Amino acid sequence: MTTFQRTRSGERMLAVEEAQQQVLAEIEPLAPERVSLTDAFGRVLREDVVAARDLPSTDNSAMDGYAVRADDIAAASRDTPAILRVIEDIPAGRLPTCRVEPGTAARIMTGATVPDGADAIAQVEITDAGGDEVRVFEPVPRGTHVRRRGDDIRAGSIVLRAGTPLGAAETGALASIQRPEVIVGRMPTVAIFSTGDEIIDVGDQPQAGRVVNSNSYALASFVRQAGAIPRMLGIVRDTREATIAGIESALSADFVVSSGGVSAGAYDFVKDALDHLGADTKFWKVAMKPGKPVVFSRLHDRVYFGLPGNPVSCMVAFVLFVAPSIRKAMGQTSNLLPPVVSMRTSAAVRSKGDRRNYIRVRVAARNGELVASPMPAQGSHVSTSMLGANGLAVLEAGVTRVEAGKSVEVVLIGPIGSD
Ligand code: AMP
Ligand code: MG
Repeated sequence: MTTFQRTRSGERMLAVEEAQQQVLAEIEPLAPERVSLTDAFGRVLREDVVAARDLPSTDNSAMDGYAVRADDIAAASRDTPAILRVIEDIPAGRLPTCRVEPGTAARIMTGATVPDGADAIAQVEITDAGGDEVRVFEPVPRGTHVRRRGDDIRAGSIVLRAGTPLGAAETGALASIQRPEVIVGRMPTVAIFSTGDEIIDVGDQPQAGRVVNSNSYALASFVRQAGAIPRMLGIVRDTREATIAGIESALSADFVVSSGGVSAGAYDFVKDALDHLGADTKFWKVAMKPGKPVVFSRLHDRVYFGLPGNPVSCMVAFVLFVAPSIRKAMGQTSNLLPPVVSMRTSAAVRSKGDRRNYIRVRVAARNGELVASPMPAQGSHVSTSMLGANGLAVLEAGVTRVEAGKSVEVVLIGPIGSD
């Protein structure tokens, strides 16, 4: 006869923040590697990148117009325009060959190098756009429309620091300082398996009483989103032996993430299997709902997360514990945890109040302000409560209700849209 698993002695329910700190303290950045700039998006920089040259490389024009000496046009007006001899035509990319002497100007295009002698640009709109001679109808102060050499990036300055995630703007900046390759953190591999005798796979014949393995697919997507490589290892049956073998087969990955088998049920073998394999288990339970049973272990230099089987609990535990760990392993040094913001809730939210409750919400901008709209059903088995959810409203232990229009703290877990 099977029995319920014994409660472990010394087991303590950690606060979420405490558990997050314990997890992050165990994660080391993986080895750096050199990649081409075209593969750098989504990776984390592992070197301080120093600019070799000034950007822009010369003083250049911000406008199409005429490079002039400001003093020459200081008294210009509609009725008495300054008349200047045009000595040169300077398209972008070609260096000027002449010096702008008093009484002269050079026709210049946006981005082209400002010639010696000139100290301002008279944009074409304040001139007659003349060819050999140009009339300028207004004065401009010295420096007008001149972009100074190095005013974007100075030679020798650090443009991006180690630990910075590389997005679109960062990739563009690396290109502009001519870095065709950069050193980034290796992408972690994350082995994923789901435990459960009741679990069937997505393509299997539907059967009453069986549960389709949604967790592995959701987890693999989260892993990709965090910038790592998922390895889907399928379904592990609820026996001690199968669980041990499942964990062992996952140990070539940097992280192992399983779902299910971590509560106190008669068929929950993850903790036992980890003990058998000699794992150093740091915690079993976190004071949160959904997602109370969360196992975190070190096993042969690998990091093991045993997430709960309920789809919502599994996803919430992933975003709070696994995603920050992946970011740290990739080399990110700040913003590891999801941001928390106060905002109003559009409807009343409830909690039992026994432990911290993460209410799934959709955060959107409404009338210039962020507002949290709670998902209608909040059970930890209601996977649709995560559809479109980009925030987790926090109801602390002891709080049983927050009225509509009142302020709540929300953990942001996805991009914010407009209503
Ligand atoms: P467990 O944590 O193993 O007790 O599972 C808790 C609940 O989550 C049960 O209702 C399971 O059927 C469900 N569940 C477990 N694994 C998965 C999975 N991979 N995909 C979807 N639901 C699951
Ligand atoms: Mg199970």
